[in-house]
Amino acid sequence: MKLVSYHLKEKDSPFRIGIMMEGKILDIQDTYRTWNKASDTIIPSDPSTFFKTGAPMIKIVEEMFKDLMVKNFEDVLFYPRDEVHLGIPIPGPSKIICVGRNYVEHAQEMNSDIPEYPVLFAKFANALIGPEDDIEKTPLTEKLDYEVELTILIGKEASQVKREDALDYIAGYTIGNDVTARDLQKRTPQWLQGKTIDRSTPIGPWIVTPDEIGNPGALDVRCYVNGELRQSSNTEKFIFDIPTLIEFISGLITLKPGDVIMTGTPEGVAFGMDQPKFLQDGDLVTLEIEKIGRLENRVRNVR
Ligand code: MG
Repeated sequence: MKLVSYHLKEKDSPFRIGIMMEGKILDIQDTYRTWNKASDTIIPSDPSTFFKTGAPMIKIVEEMFKDLMVKNFEDVLFYPRDEVHLGIPIPGPSKIICVGRNYVEHAQEMNSDIPEYPVLFAKFANALIGPEDDIEKTPLTEKLDYEVELTILIGKEASQVKREDALDYIAGYTIGNDVTARDLQKRTPQWLQGKTIDRSTPIGPWIVTPDEIGNPGALDVRCYVNGELRQSSNTEKFIFDIPTLIEFISGLITLKPGDVIMTGTPEGVAFGMDQPKFLQDGDLVTLEIEKIGRLENRVRNVR
């Protein structure tokens, strides 16, 4: 199942939670009412509340979806893809925890040591944008860089989780671009100022449930800028795999449904090039992760 945040283009209405199918979208709340033959519903319409309710809510929707497939979706109202605008799939998460230097070759291209423990930093919700938004480039940076990252959505409260149980706490996967202002990141020991600039970090285009992903430690990841391949790797090359990350992070921080973890980027960033080609106004950044899809955003100068 691919879960999206959407609204109809013709109406400037709040974003709603939907399911993306081949060329069309169904509204989860409206469909649930029809399916359940009831006017009231336990399903929230807004994506943030939906994901913060977490795994039980997703399970109800999965059961509905399976039943509708058997019934060939009779009586279900669909919106054509070109009539909807897609937003941030999980708007306003309580936490966005990011992992730095999680691929050996990326640590090397950054002239960094291979970490002994996961390198953690944070972003805030101000940084997030959706799959149809532009990456905003502030004039304060001249070294804006891209980073394709497998991105995890937590589905259940997770504290002191053991690695063998870790995947049970994941509600879904998406693509993230940990866009980084290298000059701001590196001018102080803390990376934060280069990492969480307003409207700089695309995620999406949707949340894919774990049943469609299988092993998250064997996914091809790629990044193109204006069609030129810059990054190409596989999540099997993680230094700290996803179970290790969830065990490590949940040992320190209680994760909640709707929290986001960005798992680190492979080699090929602009900073690591002999003659770095940093992002400029108008550049098109295309990220692909196997079994999830494609996230494509343009860079735009602001202020
Ligand atoms: Mg990163």
